[in-house]
Amino acid sequence: MKNLIPLLLLLVACNASKQQINVSQSDLAITNITLIDGTGSEAQENMTIFIKDGRILNIGRSEDIKADSIIDGSGKYLIPGLFESHFHFPHERKRDLRQLIHFGVTSVFNTGSSHTSYDMMKELIRLEQTDSIVSPHIFYTSYYVTIPGAQTAKNIASDTGILTGNIKIKEDSNIYLIKSEDDIPDFVSEAKNGGASAMKLTIEDGPAPPIVDRISQEYVDRIVDEAHKQNLKVFAHISDTVELKMGLLAGVDGFVHSITSKDWWGASHQGLVKQMVADSIPMVTTNMIIKSGFYPFNPQWRKSEEWQVYEEDQITDIEEFEPVFKKSVEPMLKHYLGLKDFNIKQLKPYMENFKRLKDLGVLVVAGSDVGALAYILPGHSLHEELQLLQLGGMQPTEIIQCATLNAAKMLEVDADYGSIEKGKVADMILLDKNPLEDISNTLSINTVFKRGKKQPRIKISKK
Ligand SMILES: [Zn+2]
Repeated sequence: MKNLIPLLLLLVACNASKQQINVSQSDLAITNITLIDGTGSEAQENMTIFIKDGRILNIGRSEDIKADSIIDGSGKYLIPGLFESHFHFPHERKRDLRQLIHFGVTSVFNTGSSHTSYDMMKELIRLEQTDSIVSPHIFYTSYYVTIPGAQTAKNIASDTGILTGNIKIKEDSNIYLIKSEDDIPDFVSEAKNGGASAMKLTIEDGPAPPIVDRISQEYVDRIVDEAHKQNLKVFAHISDTVELKMGLLAGVDGFVHSITSKDWWGASHQGLVKQMVADSIPMVTTNMIIKSGFYPFNPQWRKSEEWQVYEEDQITDIEEFEPVFKKSVEPMLKHYLGLKDFNIKQLKPYMENFKRLKDLGVLVVAGSDVGALAYILPGHSLHEELQLLQLGGMQPTEIIQCATLNAAKMLEVDADYGSIEKGKVADMILLDKNPLEDISNTLSINTVFKRGKKQPRIKISKK
């Protein structure tokens, strides 16, 4: 004990001097903000954030503010940059990335894209890291994989997504076709060498007609085993409880798509949820898949100010497709979800599932599935996803956590990303309105920061 005292004194002295030096040397200070740090902790008022070399140097209530640049955040709210955890890169990649940043999305997880090769992803990351493009941090999975005749070939055989029934794989698509089990090691090692954070495995038979064969349990098991052998995680895309069970049986590391059938919260599924908790298996929300079907019946939604950010061709594509989409989704939603009308409040019972999952201990992660269906647009749809979680009764602090720290935990990058804590990368959004009063206030974006730098937002010039 005698020897410890000088050591302790030394540590205290070091910490005190370090704080002083750090504060005076910071590149940027954002003062007097209400901090909602993404960890689920209560908001802290009158805080100052010090940023140095793109990271958070210090957080405190210092009166002595020395920084190259100071932003007065009085009356404003600071939350971590958002993490979009279910995204599919389109042809027009750089435009989507700009739009994500506009809406405060500072990290994006591409969960498969038939338009984007591993080399293209590596190049985008290089451009992002050298500040050559406006873009969130990029993470991505392996290519889609399928066996002849099974999903995901059906879903991505056409640009319009589901309901095509066409199971032919396009020549130029980046979809890995496994013809025998011997192909599996190559599929995994190519993904690993290609820089993928995880394998993406679609275990699905539809979800809507026409129903096709799922990849068999045997193949699911083999892919998971091989990925784990090569030290890669496997994230499964599922949409019913049969597929959830198949994934758990094989030992997948997460579900990047949720279940959309109305009966999945039956007592018979409690065992599956318990297993997810026991094995720390996260689930990404993807509720915008359902909400997109509500859009044709609520035309006022796409007249909102936020939608003015999108370019004309993005909107005309949606408008032209709307009659076909409306006709196909109406019977499907009414049949699968038992909807009476297309008032958004009809979705409350389905959204309540996510609050229950979270309360039971499942790591719930927000993701909107941009690129899967019409109306799910880069950036804005993630905010809508958060609003849907609020409809299900989740508290704003918890919802913010789902779209920040939980996502970083799922990808095991939480040492650097996902919350506003000392030492982490300074990805943050300054908001004009309090998101704890209503989660839709995450749209009241004042400034977006990535690596401590202000990001350009899109000026709305038209209309
Ligand atoms: Zn998807």
